[in-house]
Amino acid sequence: MKKYTTLFFDLDHTLWDFEANSKEALTEIYYNYNLAEKGIVSFNEFLRVYYKINDMMWEQYRKDEISKEELRNDRFYNALIAFKIGDRKLANDIGDYYVKTSPYKTNLFDGCHEVLTELKTRYNLHIITNGFEEVQHIKLQQSNLTKYFGVVVTSENAGYKKPEKGIFEYTLNKVGVSKEESLMIGDGIDTDIAGAIDFGMDSVFFNPKTYKEVNSTYTITKLIELIRLL
Ligand SMILES: [Mg+2]
Repeated sequence: MKKYTTLFFDLDHTLWDFEANSKEALTEIYYNYNLAEKGIVSFNEFLRVYYKINDMMWEQYRKDEISKEELRNDRFYNALIAFKIGDRKLANDIGDYYVKTSPYKTNLFDGCHEVLTELKTRYNLHIITNGFEEVQHIKLQQSNLTKYFGVVVTSENAGYKKPEKGIFEYTLNKVGVSKEESLMIGDGIDTDIAGAIDFGMDSVFFNPKTYKEVNSTYTITKLIELIRLL
């Protein structure tokens, strides 16, 4: 094991259980806005369609093909359209509800606090996230994660998104650490891992669903494995 001094964590799907938190918010939306009555008979079908559209639009946002506003305003509209509900006001109301609700959810991956508490005694910990500035800080605060991290870099304040080298350069400069001493930990193959490799920094691929070999330096399926690894 190389001697790292500094660990950079991704937030969504790595520490903060995006899927569980988002599902809670979408369940509230489905019932509060009576989507069954409006023609979306199956909640699971609503989830499936929304996730597919959201993933596709996040990918477009990451490639700078659409703006933050387009992403936020159109993902629910496009989901409703898929169910033949062309209601722009409903889409905007749902979109506002989602943005105001989901960051306050606090489901984390198993062992999150335990692992961060232990690692913090031996390493400097920081966050690099592609999420939005105001949203990511709410998630960290609500989930009681702020105390572990020195620097929280979002793609909005860096002016670059993972996997762009710029976001890693910006963050390591801000922290004042070399890439040789640094390790990136995240679930995103095309963002965290591809970005770290391109930048020349070691990485840990976190894949909670199944073990999957990628080009990362290390792979884990549970956060607790970091304790043994580091
Ligand atoms: Mg992630």
